[in-house]
Amino acid sequence: MNSSSGVNASSLKQMNKTTIIDALLNGSPLTKPEIAERTGLTFATVSNLLNELMTAGYVREAGYAKSGGGRKPLLYRLNPLSKVFFGVDVQVDQMVCVLMDIEGRLIVSSSVPFATSEGPHAAVALVCQQVREMLAARQLDISQVGGAGISTPGPVDGEAGIILSPPNMPGWRNVPFRQMVQEELQVPCMLEKDANAAAYGENRYGAGQRTEHMIYVMSDVGIGGGLIFNGHVYRGFLNDAGDIGHTIIDMEGPRCNCGGRGCVEAVASGIAIERSVLQATGVEMNLSSILAEAPDNANLSALVAKAGDGLGVAIASLCNALNPTMVILGGRLPIESELYFQHAQLTARQRMLPEFTHQIRIERAKLKGRSAAMGAAMLAYRLIH
Ligand SMILES: [Zn+2]
Repeated sequence: MNSSSGVNASSLKQMNKTTIIDALLNGSPLTKPEIAERTGLTFATVSNLLNELMTAGYVREAGYAKSGGGRKPLLYRLNPLSKVFFGVDVQVDQMVCVLMDIEGRLIVSSSVPFATSEGPHAAVALVCQQVREMLAARQLDISQVGGAGISTPGPVDGEAGIILSPPNMPGWRNVPFRQMVQEELQVPCMLEKDANAAAYGENRYGAGQRTEHMIYVMSDVGIGGGLIFNGHVYRGFLNDAGDIGHTIIDMEGPRCNCGGRGCVEAVASGIAIERSVLQATGVEMNLSSILAEAPDNANLSALVAKAGDGLGVAIASLCNALNPTMVILGGRLPIESELYFQHAQLTARQRMLPEFTHQIRIERAKLKGRSAAMGAAMLAYRLIH
């Protein structure tokens, strides 16, 4: 949000409720003065909003804190029995769904094959089917769902809930996906770019817990990313920050899908590796076979390692510019290939500013295929009003 733009009263109230829920998620139970101190809200605002959250069932009393003299103050915590939240991650070849409680516990998850070439209506039908099956398995009712977060390949207009024009997803131009799912499910929904959702998921539950400043790099068929600063997704001027794949690492490098030249995606992504294998060997191989065969094949392993080095160079530049606490590498390449991961992180360390080399942590994503779905579910807590 632009700092000079106005905020109407109801969205301000909703933001403040989210801030209180975040504070309770980060450390429960808390007294009202503790919540006020941690959120920067006034005691009166905390008191009013806590009452509303308690009436709605999201927050409950949790005994008394020790007295500092006078009456013992009441403690508050989230009520895990209040509502459940869905996270759905629509990927190019599968759909991952999670059901979570308000304290961030994973209740159940699923992963089903889905080809985005089947189109948006088929995707909506599958989302609804997954949601209903997961609820039925846990004997829950749709009225117990507080919200659903949907993660899809970007670019997206999160505010309007529209998937704009993701590459590799023909037929998905300007799709009002949030509204389509919301109308079908009859629960409040929000839409987020997959890399942002995954970054947030890793920040809250995965490798990046308790990390204020974090870069998430998703290296798979393409390369994307999400930035977390001060514990929040950083979106930038046009809401599209984090397009790490188009960090330029070689002015004379290969052409990139974006029309530019020498982007890290054109050098270090799955598509780039497939292309370099074809050029070097004359054999067409898909990424899965390349990764499977690379450990026993010197030619393939050299090409995978070189791609990892390319990613490392991009990471070094990003670290120098943004000085994060840590970098998390997700996506199939760093998760499935030890060689790619090691080259990416060693090259990043060699190329970044010396004062950062041993300070910035570089780790693999922990939630694997579930980072984005869990992050989306967590972002759906913002729908509580
Ligand atoms: Zn590019």
